[in-house]
Amino acid sequence: MEKFYCPECHRTYSVNATRWRCDCGSPLDLEFMPEFFTEKIVKRGPSLWRYREAIPIRKDQSILSMGEGLTPLEEMEFDGHRVLIKIDYLFPTGSYKDRGAAVLISKARELGILKVVEDSSGNAGSAIAAYCVRAGIGCDIYVPQSTSSGKLVQIQTYRANLKKIEGSREKTAQVTMEAAKKTYYASHCWNPYFLHGTKTFAFEIWEQMEWNAPDTLILPIGHGTLLLGAYIGFKELKEAGKVKKIPRLVGIQSTACAPLYQGFVKELEEAPSIIKGETMAEGIAIAEPVRGKQILKAIRETGGEILTVTEREVMPALREMGRRGHFIEPTSAATIAGLKKYLKSKGRKEVIVSSLTGTGLKAVEKIEIFGKSKDF
Ligand SMILES: *Cc1c(COP(=O)(O)O)cnc(C)c1O
Ligand SMILES: [Zn+2]
Repeated sequence: MEKFYCPECHRTYSVNATRWRCDCGSPLDLEFMPEFFTEKIVKRGPSLWRYREAIPIRKDQSILSMGEGLTPLEEMEFDGHRVLIKIDYLFPTGSYKDRGAAVLISKARELGILKVVEDSSGNAGSAIAAYCVRAGIGCDIYVPQSTSSGKLVQIQTYRANLKKIEGSREKTAQVTMEAAKKTYYASHCWNPYFLHGTKTFAFEIWEQMEWNAPDTLILPIGHGTLLLGAYIGFKELKEAGKVKKIPRLVGIQSTACAPLYQGFVKELEEAPSIIKGETMAEGIAIAEPVRGKQILKAIRETGGEILTVTEREVMPALREMGRRGHFIEPTSAATIAGLKKYLKSKGRKEVIVSSLTGTGLKAVEKIEIFGKSKDF
């Protein structure tokens, strides 16, 4: 059976309802032996649960699914380069966060949890709230006051208790950690089961590329749950002898809030503290990434890098994707702007996969305001 494992001090703990970090303060990983049976995978239904033996849920009865996953991998051309884009806004709640929420809340069910708390700038809260209401688990979602109203309405429609916190995203996190002393912390950043859901991003790409890995992944990084999930997924596939390499990980941040970029270029082990500016890309506006050290390590280990995009680059990328029939939120547009920047600087003939992480329907007001402004 799987165990909590501390990447810092190497302590292990049995999995239980109350522990959400190591005694040393570090976030925990999961020690778990995944298995991959391609002949079983291809026979199963089109959801992320087709990789059943690689997902750390013990009993099938614990699984809570809305048929999420196996999103399209669409081929697109950007400035003469062929890129594969995973259409991950096609999830029940409109963002890739359902990958993590489906697995994490299935685990909560398995542990007999009756109530959870979570903090989020919006999409993770929506995903946790949706899966909790389906599971009959009570749910308090803490959000910063400034979150897009689309996301707040969504969270409330899933019947979660919305706790709006004045001040920064970081203040919201502090208040939630206090609440997590008494209630299960279904945190997308702290709880490793979330990453063992987002890792299915890698499994799907592997299957959709006829059991191969791409050369490069270009992904947004706030708390890095998609990037770390992709890293874990490809690492598991490599260790199982299913792929030869882990793709180079390229992370995209906003210049207004780029602690991981700062840590990367200054060759630091951890993200330094920064002064956060305003950005439309609210999904990656994370000043204190919980797993910053792990993110920097994974990017360096794979020979990757971090790029930043400015506010002025976001709306043109959003409009460009609109012309291709994809309505995405500004955070996802920032990733596409970063992808374009990467292609311009490299001109390599590598196989690149990126992702459209969230739907534009979540952020209609912001898109409308910035769309009208001449500066964008
Ligand atoms: C959460 C989110 C991100 C960033 O994910 P992190 O785990 O914070 O790195 C990117 N895009 C969308 C739409 C998101 O909801
Ligand atoms: Zn530790």
